[in-house]
Amino acid sequence: MKDHMKKNSILKSIMIGTPEIEIFIRQSSRSRKISLKLSRFDNKVYLTVPNEGFIGQAEEFAREKEIWVRKQLNSLPSAIRIKPGVFITIDGVPRRVSISEMRCVSLSDSDLIIPFNDNKFEVRVKVFLIELARQRFLELTEFYSLKIGRNFKSITLRDTKSRWGSCSIEGNLMYSWRLIFAPKEVLEYLVVHEICHLEEMNHSERFWNRVESLMPDFKTNREWLKVNGSELHRYLI
Ligand SMILES: [Zn+2]
Repeated sequence: MKDHMKKNSILKSIMIGTPEIEIFIRQSSRSRKISLKLSRFDNKVYLTVPNEGFIGQAEEFAREKEIWVRKQLNSLPSAIRIKPGVFITIDGVPRRVSISEMRCVSLSDSDLIIPFNDNKFEVRVKVFLIELARQRFLELTEFYSLKIGRNFKSITLRDTKSRWGSCSIEGNLMYSWRLIFAPKEVLEYLVVHEICHLEEMNHSERFWNRVESLMPDFKTNREWLKVNGSELHRYLI
């Protein structure tokens, strides 16, 4: 993992065009030339360069390809940029993103209320959602950990796509914060799943029986993730 990070480290990000598109410049020791790509993993645009010496040239390249980049971004079927007026699902419930004069971000049954519309808007929403996800994961993980009598060591939230969570032999748990967009019971299922790995580090029958003993209808939630999981990545945040 560390090795991979080193090879693909982000050098900087640039903004091109109007409305602005953020492009991340990353270095890859394996690449020989500049390449531009929309990642389906996180819906972000990446410029890959062999080394820092290519940055200037890469920026120019990105500006020349602006139309192509826009086309690629528009081709994302369900990408949603977080801005006032759009709906995002939190706990599986659609909430309208709205602006108010209050100082803090808050959540009501129908709205996600943001203080004001400055250039930190998306960051504010993201920080709020990650924090909300952290509280949920922490509460549920502590609850189920007590219930099965196994301790966990740490909880980390990430933005991953290949898997929604993981549990190491040492008891370090990782969850995708994007599960905050999913129905509450789906997020809970992930906790149950990872907590059961503290007992069984595999997906054996014994493992699934343990999951079922804690959450009898876990299959519905597992299926929900299989069918709708990509929806949680549609928000460009
Ligand atoms: Zn598993």
